[in-house]
Amino acid sequence: MRTEPPKPPGPGRKGPRDATPGLERALRGLGVSPGIAIGPAHVVDVGAIQVPEYCLPEAALAEELARFQAAAEKAQRQVRKLKQKAGALPGAAAEDVGFLLEAHLAMLSGSRLTRGVERRIREDRLNAEAAVQAEIASIAQTFAGMQDAYLAARVADVREVGRRLIRNLMDRPFQAFSQVPVGAVVLAEELTPADTALLDPRRIGGFATVLGGAEGHTAIMARSLSLPATLGVAGLLQGVASGDTVIVDGVAGRVIVNPAAETLAAYERRREAWLAERRTLKGLSALPSVTTDGVPVTLQANLELPREVDAALEAGAAGIGLLRTEFLYMNRDTLPDEEEQTAILTDLIVRMNGRPVTARTLDAGGEKLATALRQRFGESANPALGLRAIRLGLTEPKLLETQLAAMLRAGAHGNLRILLPMIASVAEVRQVREMLATVARRLRRRGVRIANPLPKLGVMIEVPGAALSADALAPLVDFFAIGTNDLIQYTLAIDRGDEQVAHLYDPLHPAVLRLVQFSVEAARRAGIPVSVCGEMAGDPRYAALLLGLGVRDLSMGPGSIPLVKRRVRALSMADATAQARRIMEQSDSARIAALLDEINGLAA
Ligand code: PEP
Ligand code: MG
Repeated sequence: MRTEPPKPPGPGRKGPRDATPGLERALRGLGVSPGIAIGPAHVVDVGAIQVPEYCLPEAALAEELARFQAAAEKAQRQVRKLKQKAGALPGAAAEDVGFLLEAHLAMLSGSRLTRGVERRIREDRLNAEAAVQAEIASIAQTFAGMQDAYLAARVADVREVGRRLIRNLMDRPFQAFSQVPVGAVVLAEELTPADTALLDPRRIGGFATVLGGAEGHTAIMARSLSLPATLGVAGLLQGVASGDTVIVDGVAGRVIVNPAAETLAAYERRREAWLAERRTLKGLSALPSVTTDGVPVTLQANLELPREVDAALEAGAAGIGLLRTEFLYMNRDTLPDEEEQTAILTDLIVRMNGRPVTARTLDAGGEKLATALRQRFGESANPALGLRAIRLGLTEPKLLETQLAAMLRAGAHGNLRILLPMIASVAEVRQVREMLATVARRLRRRGVRIANPLPKLGVMIEVPGAALSADALAPLVDFFAIGTNDLIQYTLAIDRGDEQVAHLYDPLHPAVLRLVQFSVEAARRAGIPVSVCGEMAGDPRYAALLLGLGVRDLSMGPGSIPLVKRRVRALSMADATAQARRIMEQSDSARIAALLDEINGLAA
């Protein structure tokens, strides 16, 4: 190794990995998906990945070295983030974990490990994953032969760094979760939205991670699957082993490892109360969504995965207000063709039985870039601002045309609307309209049955530039769907998935509310419908404000529909409108929050 090994934990101090076994530890994080999970921990270990091994042709060596370099740089970014996070740990643990991660960083550049891997790629012509594995084995052997117990123990660190590199190189979900014991609570450093999609709520009780923010897609996926989850938990993986009892409280944002008997009993009572409330809320599904002064409000479901259709119908959703089609591209190496997409969309539309389905074209990019696409288009240095969503579709027309063709075909079987993500300009809408007309002509020439008339075409209002030019966009489209998640991210320059700035992510910032108001009014003037489908729509706290601003259509995760319906049925539209007017006169979001609490009956 290039640098000195990390300083060992001081005398009498515990190493970061060995918190006293069996002692209760309570940790804080962001409660991103409500509910309480209690069960045996399943600590995600990447060791289960099967590493491919193959011989590279001479011409491919430079590219392979660059691929390894990119994986090492990504690993450095990950470790730096973890190190920052560790700073929040109490007392000596912060220092201990800090030293450990410092050592990991040192192993990731100019070290024996990286030099060894590069040599194996160059001289042995091994692919990078296999080269990392071989080099780790060789280092482990050298260390194992040393008499120094401390150095021998560092083998675990070398292996951990190696696993991180392999995971980055393979760009695969951590592992299949099908072998996880029923009722287990998954604990991991980080889960991508694609990893989360693999969690089956019938098997998994809930999950917690060290990294991740409340508005990222992992959090949204957790809410969609009704899996209790707490993200951004510093120190989560220190002193916990698979099989230990863990509680994840997704309401308060807590994780308790090895709870004492009385803690366990208290949480079991809390879980019962939570489940009882969910049962009561179910009774609302057949009741109309209408305010006390008789104004109907449409409540629709956001779907991450088609298997949520049943939950949406059970919750009484009036339709699918946002179908995120990213699932079609997740956890696979190939792109879905027109036939496959048509079949999946048709099935969903038929199951919705005449209710509207708003299908959004692919919004890959940022944290959501699907494996198959990443291999084709590479990674952007600044993914949230990069080749994302409609930009990808217009740069790779074949990708978008295939989706539009599938939507046109599926639209023949029911009520389908097409929604475009991340629109920033009228030119983009015009381009898609032309493309849609061309694809429709092509299909008709082939004698394929398509929706007639053509499906309605709408845009997400989620880029501040789109909100500010909503009056220019409105005449070109059939509807607006306001995506508050990205609108907040881009307006306030806050990465929605980064737990370090989660406290600055503020839906009540006056700038955000003004953009929402401006968009709603532009839609009203143009006579087109407007909905809100960001996470704000699913939080009953914001219902009065959004309705007061003129929104009459809210789309949210199926689990939120009963909560929002209860709120809608308890409020008066006249009061909500008057309060929204007062709120829009304010410049300070703390004051706005207080006014909102007033109308929600929560004022102190
Ligand atoms: C949004 O940005 O508010 C939205 C609904 O889209 P997504 O969360 O998929 O980016
Ligand atoms: Mg968005």
